[in-house]
Amino acid sequence: MTAQQTGSTPPLRINSSFDSGNIRVEAIDGTTATLSIHKDHESDFFQWFHFRAAAPAGTRLTLRITGLAQSSYPDGWPGYAACVSEDRERWDRAASRYDPGVDGGTLTIDYTLVGDAAWFAYFAPYSQERHHDLVAQAAACEGVTVRQLGESLDGRPIDCLELGSGDKPVWLIARQHPGETMAEWWMEGALDMLTDPTNAHARALRAACRFYIVPNMNPDGAFRGHLRTNARGINLNREWHEPQADRAPEVLCVRNRMDETGVAFAMDVHGDEAIPAVFLAGFEGIPSIKDAQLALFRRYRDTLAIRTPDFQTRLGYPEARPGKANLSMATAQIAERYGAVAMTLEMPFKDNDDLPDTAQGWSPERSMQLARDCLATLAEMVGDI
Ligand code: ZN
Repeated sequence: MTAQQTGSTPPLRINSSFDSGNIRVEAIDGTTATLSIHKDHESDFFQWFHFRAAAPAGTRLTLRITGLAQSSYPDGWPGYAACVSEDRERWDRAASRYDPGVDGGTLTIDYTLVGDAAWFAYFAPYSQERHHDLVAQAAACEGVTVRQLGESLDGRPIDCLELGSGDKPVWLIARQHPGETMAEWWMEGALDMLTDPTNAHARALRAACRFYIVPNMNPDGAFRGHLRTNARGINLNREWHEPQADRAPEVLCVRNRMDETGVAFAMDVHGDEAIPAVFLAGFEGIPSIKDAQLALFRRYRDTLAIRTPDFQTRLGYPEARPGKANLSMATAQIAERYGAVAMTLEMPFKDNDDLPDTAQGWSPERSMQLARDCLATLAEMVGDI
């Protein structure tokens, strides 16, 4: 007999046994679930969550994610609203509030089911299947070469898409931190634009540059539902000075290819948990810094800020002092090693508070549009790089 036939109400059920799933069920009491987040394997980082809640349509759910004061970025929770989808295509924000003093820091999500199940995540997920679709679609475009640079620790491909007939090597890399899924949404927008035969900025860029694009630096962490590390709990963006095959083969294979191609311009795409804005971080503080190199970075940043209200220069990270750059990070290492104009792009998990969207917050769609604006800005100044 089904529940309907007996007249009893099916209980609330929570699952996360799927690609990038991450949640621990502590307790379920009626329509209230008390939850917590698993740490990245062999590390103390945690912040990414992704799970499904199933209950009859119309049920008002109360989902309490606890223990968050110990998460990697406790400042990420005040002002944050969880992402929710019932069709797994459009992601909206669910009413959420953070109480730092309750159960070690609790995010409470209130949501009334439209259908019989909803998916909740820290940000709109970008699945392994979608990654393979992205690679396949780009590979089908004229002039695009797919090159597998190596394998992750779990044996997943590290894919690099190459295109363009120019001689300036431009590298775009994303998702060193796998929970920062907005970075691969950005890549989807970038590839969509660069492979558009009618887009004038893309045509100019393809004529001037050779692009090397790594949409996902950390496929193991992405699939495992990690925030920040690979299968061994290694933060890939602290391995660039001397990447080791047994710790960070993902970085080693990419850096080896960069050694072959050289790098004129590089962007490393990330998400920031706490700051409600889009911003760039540069390479101030590298030992070999040149005035012209730094001037080009600042010109790029300032031009992008004029181009789109979804980018700004007021909020961001403090600059490294002279000689104090951290060369274990991609941007600093690439700027130092190749003399490149290199930068880290940070998009918010929350929203751009200068131009908020109460329904979706920062979103896949805005990440993709930002990629187009970033590339158009590059096209405008590529002759000087
Ligand atoms: Zn990051």
